Amino acid sequence: MSNRLKSIEHEIIKCMKCGNCQAVCPLYKETRAENAVARGKVQLAAAVLGGKLDYTAELAHRFDLCLTCMACVSNCPCGVRVDRVVLEARAALAEKRGLPLPHRVAAAGLARPALMQMGMKAAGVTQKLLFKRGERGMSPRFPVGLDLKRVLPALAKKDLKEQLPEKNAVQNPVMRVALFAGCVTNYVYPGVGLALVEVLNRHGVEVVFPKEQHCCGAPLLIHGIKDTAKEMAASHVHMFDAAGVDAVVTVCGTCGEAFRHHYPELLSGRAKDAGKALALSGRTYDIAEFLTDIVPLDHTLLGPLDTHFTYHEPCHVGRGLGAAGKAEKLLKAIPRATYSPMQDPGRCCGGAGSFSFEHYKLASQVLDRKLSDISGTGAGVVVTGCGSCRIQLNDGLAQRKMPQRVLHTVEMLAHSITGAREEGNYNGRQ
Ligand code: SF4
Ligand code: SF4
Repeated sequence: MSNRLKSIEHEIIKCMKCGNCQAVCPLYKETRAENAVARGKVQLAAAVLGGKLDYTAELAHRFDLCLTCMACVSNCPCGVRVDRVVLEARAALAEKRGLPLPHRVAAAGLARPALMQMGMKAAGVTQKLLFKRGERGMSPRFPVGLDLKRVLPALAKKDLKEQLPEKNAVQNPVMRVALFAGCVTNYVYPGVGLALVEVLNRHGVEVVFPKEQHCCGAPLLIHGIKDTAKEMAASHVHMFDAAGVDAVVTVCGTCGEAFRHHYPELLSGRAKDAGKALALSGRTYDIAEFLTDIVPLDHTLLGPLDTHFTYHEPCHVGRGLGAAGKAEKLLKAIPRATYSPMQDPGRCCGGAGSFSFEHYKLASQVLDRKLSDISGTGAGVVVTGCGSCRIQLNDGLAQRKMPQRVLHTVEMLAHSITGAREEGNYNGRQ
């Protein structure tokens, strides 16, 4: 019996098999397969725990098929933390079966910041050789493990660490915060980090940007690589403690969740890290939470934007951090901007980190419903709060030849505050 699954037995036995999760599971909607839905996964975990099932490749595949979108968790009358069951099952499977080679390679890179930096620079060069540039991004020239029609963003010429100073001071600051950028913001959308500094500086908030920061570890955790994720958590806990800031601000729900929820859990058994992990957890905020609850958005700073927009709520901002609706409220304050809500802003887009890379067809089917929602709003801009969702939405919009641009919440606010119209173009910073 796996100790890992034993540790979440209390979640497994809470399930009363009511099937409420079926109604909200984006993968069940596409596959109609019981083992794709939360109830089926919980029963699979119960069967392994009871010794009726072994750690087979088929079982690994079943647990792979989950977006960790938490829609089931929000809709479960028994409060079953299906996300925890799935993550522990993946960790147990990784221990018993070993990791697939691509996961081992990715984990080795993400866990070593210097290697990651070198790898991303090399990827920037090879992307130009292996991909061709289109209107909305880059598509593979050859089958490099990706669908040939897939559209991905170009890697940034200069990543955020190269563009943003460590200290972004203001006179008489009302607060001092640290930015945790995350990999997608650092390497793909550095404009999001620049926008955050611009918006917070205008609110009298000093922003420090610890340059030693690295991947939050969530991608490893999601693939069951728990021990390495634990070391990455410990590294950040001490780094951000040493920064001596009042708060840590994130621009990605998954990173925010890692800091707030996963780090204290991962480090709870380590005396030298546990207290600091809890303290960090208590002062980490997504930017939408920060501008709602900590330093409220100053409406007098906002300038008019003649924009018609809609908003996609990332799963890990809305359900993961419990911040649903906060970004929408901020964005609605922008003068002259027209907001048309989509039918279900919190429905998963299918991106889910690496899920869309590993299960492109299924992820695209999930995305298709979101694209129809977007189309129904008539909006010209889709705002969201997560880089991974942005990559997924941008690909779908390209596939369907839809004209909408995708922006991060904080970029839209920066545009309103500074009058800039292009990403990254704040106060002349590029
Ligand atoms: S909604 Fe909750 S209790 Fe009901 S079947 Fe799904 S996981 Fe089990
Ligand atoms: S987390 Fe999302 S994809 Fe996974 S079982 Fe729950 S609803 Fe389905």
